[in-house]
Amino acid sequence: ATPTALTVATSRLSRSGVLVRRAHVLDTLPKVTRIVFDKTGTLTRGEVAVTSVTLLADLHELQVLAMAAALEAQSEHPIARAFRPCRDERLQVSERQNRVGRGVSGLIDGTRWHLGSGAWLAPDNQDAELCVYLANEQGPVARFELTDPLREEADALIRDCREQGIATTILTGDSSGQAERVAERLGVDTLIKHASPDDKLAYLRSCDQAGEICLMVGDGINDAPVLAGAHVSFAMAGGTDIAKNSADAIMLADDLRHILTARHISARCRRVIK
Ligand code: ADP
Ligand code: MG
Repeated sequence: ATPTALTVATSRLSRSGVLVRRAHVLDTLPKVTRIVFDKTGTLTRGEVAVTSVTLLADLHELQVLAMAAALEAQSEHPIARAFRPCRDERLQVSERQNRVGRGVSGLIDGTRWHLGSGAWLAPDNQDAELCVYLANEQGPVARFELTDPLREEADALIRDCREQGIATTILTGDSSGQAERVAERLGVDTLIKHASPDDKLAYLRSCDQAGEICLMVGDGINDAPVLAGAHVSFAMAGGTDIAKNSADAIMLADDLRHILTARHISARCRRVIK
C-alpha cells in the first residue's frame, strides 16, 4: 500500500498547487517546526512599483529612471520589474554585473553606475521605506521609493502557523524599515534582515542546531543556497529558475496557504502508511 499512498498524496499535493520534486518532502513536511520566508517576491507579491524619485544631483527624473531601467534590463529580481516601463533602448550598458543581495552595475558611456540597496550605496541613510539608489563612483544621484505590496493571504497564513504551533521567520536581504513593518504587521516571530546568502545559510544552521526542522520558502537567486540547504524547501512559481531548481517543491498555486495544506496532506499520508 505504501507506493499507492505516496502516489495519491503526491497527486493531491499537485492538485493543491504544490509540485513535489523530491520524495522526502512528504516525510519532512509533517515534522516542520518553523517556516522561514524570504520577503520580496515571497511574502510580497513581487509586483514592485516606483512611487517617488528624489534627485540628489543635477539630472532629470526621466534620465535617472531610464538609466535604472537599462542597468536592470537583464535582472530577474522583482525590483527590476519596477523600472521596466522606463526602458529606453538607446541607452546601452556594458560590463554588467549582478551583485546578489545588493543590486546591479554596469558601464554607461564609459562611467560605472550602480543601482541597489541603501546599505550598499548610501550606508549613512536609514531608510524607513523600501528604496534603491542610483549611484556612480562619486556617490548617489537618485533615490527611488518603491512599494512592494504583501500577498493578501499572508496575514491568514501567519495566523494559521501560530495556531498550529509552527514558528515563523522572515529572512531578508532588505535592510530598510519595511522589513520591521511587515514582520510586526503579520506577527512573524523572528526577523533577520540585511542578510547575505551566507548569513541566510548560517541562520538555517543555527535553527538546525537548536533542533528545529525548517521549511524555507523563497524565490530569488540569493535564496538558492538556502533552498538547497533547508530540511525542506519551496520555491515560488514566479521565482528564478535557479531557485526552482534548488527547491524540493514548487508552489504553482498563487496562494501561500497551500504550504499548510501540503503539510496536512503529507501528515495524513504518513498516518495511512504507518
Ligand atoms: P530579499 O531577501 O528580500 O529577496 P535580496 O537579498 O534579493 O532581498 O536583496 C536585498 C536588497 O538588495 C534589496 O532590498 C534591494 O535593496 C537590493 N537589490 C537586490 N537586487 C537588486 C536589483 N536587481 N535591483 C535593485 N536592488 C536590488
Ligand atoms: Mg526574494
